[in-house]
Amino acid sequence: MTFESDALIVGAGLAGLRAAVELAGRGDVAVVSKVYPTRSHSGAAQGGIAAALGNEEPDSWEWHMYDTVKGGDYLTDQDAAEVLARDAPRAVYELEHMGVPFDRTPSGTIAQRAFGGHTREFGAAAIKRACHAADHTGRVILDTLHSEALRHGIRFFSEFHVVDLILQHGRCEGLVALELATGELHVLRSRATLLATGGFGKVYKTTSNCFANTGDGAYLAYRAGVPLQDMEFVQFHPTGICGLGILISEAARGEGGILRNRNGERFMERYAPTIKDLAPRDVVSRAILTEVREGRGIDGRDFVHLDLTHLGKDALAAKLFDITSFAMTYLGIDASVDPIPVQPTCHYMMGGLPTDADGRVLGADGKPMPGLYAAGECACVSVHGANRLGCNSLLDLVVFGRRAGRTMGEELPALPRPAAEPDAAAPVRGRLAELRRRPGGERVGALRSHLQQVMMESCSVFRTEGSLSRALGEIEGLEVRRDEVSLADPGSRWNADLLEVLEFDSLLALAKAIVVSALARTESRGAHFREDFPERDDAAWLKHTQVRLAEGEIEVSYKPVTVTRFTPKPRVY
Ligand SMILES: Cc1cc2nc3c(=O)[nH]c(=O)nc-3n(C[C@H](O)[C@H](O)[C@H](O)COP(=O)(O)OP(=O)(O)OC[C@H]3O[C@@H](n4cnc5c(N)ncnc54)[C@H](O)[C@@H]3O)c2cc1C
Repeated sequence: MTFESDALIVGAGLAGLRAAVELAGRGDVAVVSKVYPTRSHSGAAQGGIAAALGNEEPDSWEWHMYDTVKGGDYLTDQDAAEVLARDAPRAVYELEHMGVPFDRTPSGTIAQRAFGGHTREFGAAAIKRACHAADHTGRVILDTLHSEALRHGIRFFSEFHVVDLILQHGRCEGLVALELATGELHVLRSRATLLATGGFGKVYKTTSNCFANTGDGAYLAYRAGVPLQDMEFVQFHPTGICGLGILISEAARGEGGILRNRNGERFMERYAPTIKDLAPRDVVSRAILTEVREGRGIDGRDFVHLDLTHLGKDALAAKLFDITSFAMTYLGIDASVDPIPVQPTCHYMMGGLPTDADGRVLGADGKPMPGLYAAGECACVSVHGANRLGCNSLLDLVVFGRRAGRTMGEELPALPRPAAEPDAAAPVRGRLAELRRRPGGERVGALRSHLQQVMMESCSVFRTEGSLSRALGEIEGLEVRRDEVSLADPGSRWNADLLEVLEFDSLLALAKAIVVSALARTESRGAHFREDFPERDDAAWLKHTQVRLAEGEIEVSYKPVTVTRFTPKPRVY
């Protein structure tokens, strides 16, 4: 099939759907998603969406902006953080008016809870800023936006896996997608294409991310020469269920949960005396692993306890229903009686495709690439800098998803119709045929596990030159072995084996981009902690990293950070 529309959106999470709703009525719009839209990872978001509504206590967008910049260890572009914090109340009320069933205060306004790194009066004390629907906030927003998109008649190509971008004539003219049900390749042409393909936590062994989070959109653009920005900044969430990585939302600590070591000590009092368990995630993850290294993990092992027992059965059932049922389902633990064993889990990618505040992807020359846009976790605006605050991602998705949709709508009339190409799918068809012909070789599952293990051991919360160089060597070995991979299933319909081979290409290339960026940055900032360079070094490193593929080699370059209101200071919590 060859299909043509004005605008294509790759990804049906909150970023993609918010953009689609914004574009409705401005041309033909289609959304392509490799999973059924409401299965997108946005639906797993638990804790909430940040906005200085001031419903529970006085708040201001400037405090929110300050927290975002400080949380990001001053790598945040402050003009973008200002857009985020100022637009947040409008964005949340807009969702409310679309029908999102937020929890309520006794007087009927949207209820808010505390979350890591969100404070009042520029760091004086924790503040309640997270709007939520129990602990399934992402689910209700995703379902609401999906209904809105259907109501506007947006067309969906569900379970279509995008395998290539058509970047030609100096612009993006659409994409090539594999229909999973049939194995057919389709060319989808458009004047404007938005990448909203989410994060890539699956680069790591222990992660809170879903199986689909393999970073395909970021990879496809990178492969075509678009830079990736700030890839070394990978967020580890402090409280994954021990051994599984499944998330226990920060809402648990927002509602009063406490982290304890083997002595029962509330150790966060030593690491962040003012906001304790509600310090940002990079600080808490390092604190947990420091406790473990110093022998104060539970029973001397590699986890600590999250204690919710004092919150009471009723409060847990009303406010933290999903996560208490996870504790019961996966560990057989009743969280009102026993503490939950937790350890850091890979959660969020601060890095991604560089964009301006209106969703335009910026090429290696820093200029917008005609016809190509990005929003959500695959993009780097950059509002999260070196470390994202909890509840700022859902906000980023709806604020910048909307702005990207609006920009695409405005620019559509000036973008030319894509020129007819004889067969834009030919390169992919060739690769698939070659894969199918290959005689029995390695299975991709073994290579993926190896990569995930290496990244976990050598490029996670703590890093050194030695560990990163080891990771790079292993990745280069895997690049060779990848070319020997063969398919166990040569078929066309629902070929999960083939899908995993394609996704492994993304994981491997993105892992290498993370490691190369991390090796180059000889300082510690936010989520990037170099044990051999433990201090932040603003004189040398207050700048964004960019990596780009040029003739198969990775080129590293740097870009200034935009500082407007808040001069970088040491981060104390
Ligand atoms: C367990 C968990 C809890 C979280 N809780 C919170 C929270 O409480 N608050 C908060 O602010 N943030 C939270 N986050 C972070 C936040 O949910 C994510 O950053 C966000 O949902 C990403 O949204 P997105 O729209 O960018 O992409 P996603 O929702 O991840 O969607 C990606 C989309 O891209 C599509 N796609 C990907 N590759 C392809 C391809 N090759 N072809 C076609 N389609 C493709 C997928 O099908 C999917 O539709 C949480 C994250 C996790 C994992």
